[in-house]
Amino acid sequence: MTSNIVVLGCGLGGLKVSGLVSKQLGRSGTVTIVEPRAKIPLPSSLPWLAFGWREPNSILKDLKSLANRKNVRLVAEKVEKINVAGRIIKTQSHEILYDKLVISLGADLAFDEIPGLDKYSHTMYSLEGALKLRDAIKNFQGGSIVIGVCRIPYKCPAAPYELSLLMEETMRRARKRVDIQLFTPEPHPVPAARRRSWSRSSAIEWSSKVVPHSSTIFSSQSRHTAHPGSWWRPV
Ligand SMILES: Cc1cc2nc3c(=O)[nH]c(=O)nc-3n(C[C@H](O)[C@H](O)[C@H](O)COP(=O)(O)OP(=O)(O)OC[C@H]3O[C@@H](n4cnc5c(N)ncnc54)[C@H](O)[C@@H]3O)c2cc1C
Repeated sequence: MTSNIVVLGCGLGGLKVSGLVSKQLGRSGTVTIVEPRAKIPLPSSLPWLAFGWREPNSILKDLKSLANRKNVRLVAEKVEKINVAGRIIKTQSHEILYDKLVISLGADLAFDEIPGLDKYSHTMYSLEGALKLRDAIKNFQGGSIVIGVCRIPYKCPAAPYELSLLMEETMRRARKRVDIQLFTPEPHPVPAARRRSWSRSSAIEWSSKVVPHSSTIFSSQSRHTAHPGSWWRPV
Protein backbone atom coordinates (compact mmCIF):
# COMPACT_ATOMS: atom_id res chain seq x y z
CA MET A 1 0.00 0.00 0.00
CA THR A 2 1.35 3.43 -0.87
CA SER A 3 1.50 6.21 1.71
CA ASN A 4 0.11 9.58 1.02
CA ILE A 5 1.87 12.15 3.17
CA VAL A 6 0.72 15.74 3.12
CA VAL A 7 2.93 18.55 4.41
CA LEU A 8 1.25 21.88 5.11
CA GLY A 9 3.63 24.82 4.75
CA CYS A 10 7.10 24.61 3.28
CA GLY A 11 9.19 27.00 5.33
CA LEU A 12 12.31 25.67 7.00
CA GLY A 13 10.42 22.95 8.89
CA GLY A 14 8.29 21.76 5.96
CA LEU A 15 11.26 21.85 3.60
CA LYS A 16 13.38 19.61 5.82
CA VAL A 17 10.58 17.17 6.63
CA SER A 18 9.44 16.92 3.00
CA GLY A 19 12.98 16.18 1.82
CA LEU A 20 13.56 13.50 4.44
CA VAL A 21 10.16 11.85 4.00
CA SER A 22 10.43 11.85 0.21
CA LYS A 23 13.82 10.15 0.42
CA GLN A 24 12.56 7.54 2.88
CA LEU A 25 9.39 6.80 0.91
CA GLY A 26 11.04 6.34 -2.47
CA ARG A 27 8.47 4.72 -4.71
CA SER A 28 6.28 3.58 -1.85
CA GLY A 29 4.38 6.83 -1.50
CA THR A 30 3.97 10.49 -2.31
CA VAL A 31 4.57 13.72 -0.48
CA THR A 32 2.15 16.50 -1.28
CA ILE A 33 3.33 19.91 -0.15
CA VAL A 34 0.81 22.72 0.22
CA GLU A 35 2.66 26.04 0.13
CA PRO A 36 1.62 29.23 -1.70
CA ARG A 37 5.17 30.58 -2.12
CA ALA A 38 7.34 29.31 -4.99
CA LYS A 39 10.50 30.54 -3.25
CA ILE A 40 11.10 30.81 0.47
CA PRO A 41 13.59 33.13 2.16
CA LEU A 42 16.27 31.63 4.41
CA PRO A 43 15.53 33.54 7.63
CA SER A 44 19.06 33.39 9.04
CA SER A 45 20.17 35.58 6.10
CA LEU A 46 17.55 38.28 6.66
CA PRO A 47 19.86 40.37 8.88
CA TRP A 48 22.48 40.27 6.08
CA LEU A 49 19.84 41.46 3.65
CA ALA A 50 18.94 44.33 5.98
CA PHE A 51 22.57 45.46 6.12
CA GLY A 52 23.01 45.21 2.35
CA TRP A 53 25.35 42.21 2.38
CA ARG A 54 22.95 40.04 0.39
CA GLU A 55 20.41 40.56 -2.38
CA PRO A 56 16.98 38.88 -2.20
CA ASN A 57 17.77 36.35 -4.95
CA SER A 58 20.73 34.95 -3.06
CA ILE A 59 18.69 34.17 0.05
CA LEU A 60 15.66 32.67 -1.67
CA LYS A 61 15.31 28.91 -1.89
CA ASP A 62 13.40 27.79 -4.97
CA LEU A 63 11.06 24.93 -4.11
CA LYS A 64 11.38 23.62 -7.67
CA SER A 65 14.29 21.33 -6.79
CA LEU A 66 12.11 19.56 -4.24
CA ALA A 67 8.98 19.62 -6.38
CA ASN A 68 10.90 18.03 -9.29
CA ARG A 69 11.35 14.81 -7.35
CA LYS A 70 9.19 12.02 -8.73
CA ASN A 71 7.31 11.36 -5.50
CA VAL A 72 6.72 15.03 -4.58
CA ARG A 73 3.78 17.18 -5.64
CA LEU A 74 3.56 20.89 -4.90
CA VAL A 75 0.20 22.55 -4.52
CA ALA A 76 0.86 26.27 -4.66
CA GLU A 77 -2.15 27.37 -2.66
CA LYS A 78 -3.09 28.20 0.89
CA VAL A 79 -4.65 25.63 3.20
CA GLU A 80 -8.17 26.73 3.97
CA LYS A 81 -9.50 23.87 6.04
CA ILE A 82 -8.32 20.66 7.69
CA ASN A 83 -10.95 17.95 8.02
CA VAL A 84 -9.36 15.61 10.54
CA ALA A 85 -12.25 13.13 10.64
CA GLY A 86 -12.27 12.71 6.86
CA ARG A 87 -8.48 13.21 6.48
CA ILE A 88 -9.01 15.86 3.84
CA ILE A 89 -7.16 19.13 3.25
CA LYS A 90 -9.07 21.86 1.50
CA THR A 91 -7.38 24.58 -0.53
CA GLN A 92 -9.03 27.03 -2.92
CA SER A 93 -9.18 24.56 -5.80
CA HIS A 94 -8.15 21.18 -4.35
CA GLU A 95 -9.33 18.59 -1.90
CA ILE A 96 -6.35 16.46 -0.89
CA LEU A 97 -6.65 13.17 0.97
CA TYR A 98 -3.91 12.15 3.38
CA ASP A 99 -2.75 9.13 5.37
CA LYS A 100 -0.34 11.14 7.48
CA LEU A 101 -0.31 14.89 7.94
CA VAL A 102 2.55 17.25 8.84
CA ILE A 103 1.49 20.73 9.93
CA SER A 104 4.37 23.17 9.58
CA LEU A 105 2.59 26.45 8.99
CA GLY A 106 4.94 28.51 11.14
CA ALA A 107 3.78 31.51 13.14
CA ASP A 108 2.21 34.73 11.91
CA LEU A 109 3.47 37.98 13.39
CA ALA A 110 0.66 39.93 15.05
CA PHE A 111 1.79 43.51 14.49
CA ASP A 112 -1.79 44.71 14.78
CA GLU A 113 -1.93 43.73 18.45
CA ILE A 114 0.12 46.78 19.41
CA PRO A 115 -1.36 50.00 18.01
CA GLY A 116 1.17 51.89 15.91
CA LEU A 117 3.74 49.11 15.79
CA ASP A 118 3.16 48.24 12.14
CA LYS A 119 3.12 51.86 11.02
CA TYR A 120 6.01 53.24 13.04
CA SER A 121 8.48 50.37 13.41
CA HIS A 122 10.62 48.15 11.22
CA THR A 123 11.04 44.38 11.22
CA MET A 124 13.62 42.05 9.72
CA TYR A 125 11.47 38.99 10.35
CA SER A 126 10.22 38.96 6.76
CA LEU A 127 11.81 39.57 3.36
CA GLU A 128 9.69 42.67 2.73
CA GLY A 129 10.43 43.98 6.23
CA ALA A 130 14.19 43.43 5.89
CA LEU A 131 14.22 45.30 2.57
CA LYS A 132 12.41 48.29 4.08
CA LEU A 133 14.79 48.21 7.03
CA ARG A 134 17.72 48.20 4.59
CA ASP A 135 16.51 51.51 3.14
CA ALA A 136 15.95 52.95 6.60
CA ILE A 137 19.48 51.96 7.73
CA LYS A 138 20.98 53.43 4.57
CA ASN A 139 19.14 56.73 5.03
CA PHE A 140 19.57 57.02 8.81
CA GLN A 141 21.62 60.06 9.71
CA GLY A 142 22.08 59.34 13.41
CA GLY A 143 20.05 59.54 16.59
CA SER A 144 18.31 57.06 18.81
CA ILE A 145 17.52 53.46 17.77
CA VAL A 146 15.31 51.28 19.90
CA ILE A 147 15.17 47.55 19.23
CA GLY A 148 12.33 45.76 20.93
CA VAL A 149 11.06 42.29 21.71
CA CYS A 150 7.34 42.64 22.26
CA ARG A 151 6.55 39.30 23.80
CA ILE A 152 8.05 35.87 24.52
CA PRO A 153 8.35 33.26 23.17
CA TYR A 154 9.46 34.37 19.73
CA LYS A 155 11.38 32.73 16.91
CA CYS A 156 15.14 33.05 16.78
CA PRO A 157 15.85 34.54 20.22
CA ALA A 158 19.34 35.48 19.04
CA ALA A 159 18.14 37.72 16.20
CA PRO A 160 17.43 40.95 18.16
CA TYR A 161 20.90 40.76 19.74
CA GLU A 162 22.49 40.05 16.36
CA LEU A 163 20.60 43.05 14.98
CA SER A 164 21.74 45.39 17.75
CA LEU A 165 25.40 44.33 17.42
CA LEU A 166 25.35 44.65 13.62
CA MET A 167 23.60 48.00 13.93
CA GLU A 168 26.20 49.30 16.36
CA GLU A 169 29.08 48.18 14.12
CA THR A 170 27.49 49.55 10.95
CA MET A 171 26.76 52.95 12.49
CA ARG A 172 30.20 53.17 14.10
CA ARG A 173 31.91 52.41 10.77
CA ALA A 174 29.73 55.00 9.04
CA ARG A 175 30.68 57.51 11.79
CA LYS A 176 27.05 58.14 12.63
CA ARG A 177 26.23 59.09 16.20
CA VAL A 178 23.67 56.67 17.55
CA ASP A 179 22.30 55.53 20.86
CA ILE A 180 21.07 51.95 20.55
CA GLN A 181 18.86 50.44 23.19
CA LEU A 182 17.18 47.10 23.24
CA PHE A 183 14.24 46.18 25.41
CA THR A 184 12.83 42.76 26.10
CA PRO A 185 10.78 40.92 28.70
CA GLU A 186 13.60 38.31 28.90
CA PRO A 187 15.55 38.24 32.18
CA HIS A 188 18.90 38.65 30.38
CA PRO A 189 20.23 38.47 26.79
CA VAL A 190 19.55 35.15 25.03
CA PRO A 191 18.18 33.24 28.03
CA ALA A 192 19.19 29.92 26.40
CA ALA A 193 22.81 30.99 26.93
CA ARG A 194 23.96 31.09 30.51
CA ARG A 195 23.75 34.42 32.27
CA ARG A 196 27.44 34.36 33.14
CA SER A 197 28.55 34.05 29.54
CA TRP A 198 26.85 37.38 28.89
CA SER A 199 28.29 39.18 31.87
CA ARG A 200 31.72 38.47 30.38
CA SER A 201 30.73 40.15 27.12
CA SER A 202 31.45 43.85 26.94
CA ALA A 203 29.48 44.31 23.74
CA ILE A 204 26.05 44.29 25.34
CA GLU A 205 25.51 45.75 28.75
CA TRP A 206 22.31 44.75 30.41
CA SER A 207 20.37 45.91 33.38
CA SER A 208 17.67 44.07 35.22
CA LYS A 209 16.10 47.33 36.27
CA VAL A 210 12.36 47.00 35.97
CA VAL A 211 10.95 49.55 33.59
CA PRO A 212 7.31 50.03 32.61
CA HIS A 213 5.84 46.84 31.13
CA SER A 214 8.50 44.71 32.84
CA SER A 215 11.10 45.18 30.15
CA THR A 216 14.72 44.44 30.77
CA ILE A 217 17.00 46.97 29.17
CA PHE A 218 20.20 46.54 27.26
CA SER A 219 22.64 48.91 25.74
CA SER A 220 24.70 47.72 22.81
CA GLN A 221 27.85 49.42 24.05
CA SER A 222 28.95 49.70 27.61
CA ARG A 223 29.51 53.44 27.28
CA HIS A 224 25.87 54.03 26.48
CA THR A 225 23.44 54.64 29.26
CA ALA A 226 19.90 53.41 29.02
CA HIS A 227 17.12 55.87 29.81
CA PRO A 228 14.02 53.83 30.44
CA GLY A 229 11.79 56.89 30.62
CA SER A 230 12.51 57.93 27.06
CA TRP A 231 11.69 54.60 25.56
CA TRP A 232 9.12 53.42 23.18
CA ARG A 233 6.06 52.30 25.09
CA PRO A 234 2.97 50.44 23.93
CA VAL A 235 0.24 53.00 23.29
C1 LIG B 1 15.76 37.00 11.38
C2 LIG B 1 15.70 35.52 11.69
C3 LIG B 1 16.87 34.80 11.84
C4 LIG B 1 16.83 33.45 12.14
N1 LIG B 1 17.98 32.75 12.25
C5 LIG B 1 17.95 31.43 12.54
C6 LIG B 1 19.14 30.67 12.63
O1 LIG B 1 20.24 31.19 12.42
N2 LIG B 1 19.05 29.35 12.92
C7 LIG B 1 17.82 28.75 13.15
O2 LIG B 1 17.77 27.54 13.42
N3 LIG B 1 16.68 29.45 13.07
C8 LIG B 1 16.71 30.76 12.77
N4 LIG B 1 15.55 31.46 12.69
C9 LIG B 1 14.29 30.79 13.07
C10 LIG B 1 13.73 29.97 11.92
O3 LIG B 1 13.59 30.78 10.78
C11 LIG B 1 12.35 29.43 12.33
O4 LIG B 1 12.48 28.71 13.52
C12 LIG B 1 11.82 28.55 11.23
O5 LIG B 1 11.67 29.28 10.04
C13 LIG B 1 10.50 27.95 11.64
O6 LIG B 1 10.16 27.03 10.62
P1 LIG B 1 8.66 26.66 10.32
O7 LIG B 1 8.69 25.73 9.17
O8 LIG B 1 7.98 26.23 11.58
O9 LIG B 1 7.95 28.04 9.92
P2 LIG B 1 8.25 28.99 8.67
O10 LIG B 1 9.65 28.87 8.23
O11 LIG B 1 7.71 30.31 9.05
O12 LIG B 1 7.35 28.38 7.50
C14 LIG B 1 5.96 28.40 7.53
C15 LIG B 1 5.47 28.23 6.09
O13 LIG B 1 4.07 28.00 6.09
C16 LIG B 1 3.50 28.70 4.99
N5 LIG B 1 2.09 28.95 5.29
C17 LIG B 1 1.58 29.78 6.25
N6 LIG B 1 0.24 29.73 6.22
C18 LIG B 1 -0.11 28.85 5.24
C19 LIG B 1 -1.35 28.37 4.74
N7 LIG B 1 -2.54 28.76 5.24
N8 LIG B 1 -1.31 27.45 3.75
C20 LIG B 1 -0.14 27.01 3.23
N9 LIG B 1 1.07 27.43 3.67
C21 LIG B 1 1.08 28.34 4.66
C22 LIG B 1 4.31 29.98 4.88
O14 LIG B 1 4.22 30.52 3.56
C23 LIG B 1 5.71 29.47 5.23
O15 LIG B 1 6.47 29.15 4.09
C24 LIG B 1 15.56 32.81 12.33
C25 LIG B 1 14.38 33.54 12.16
C26 LIG B 1 14.44 34.87 11.83
C27 LIG B 1 13.14 35.62 11.61
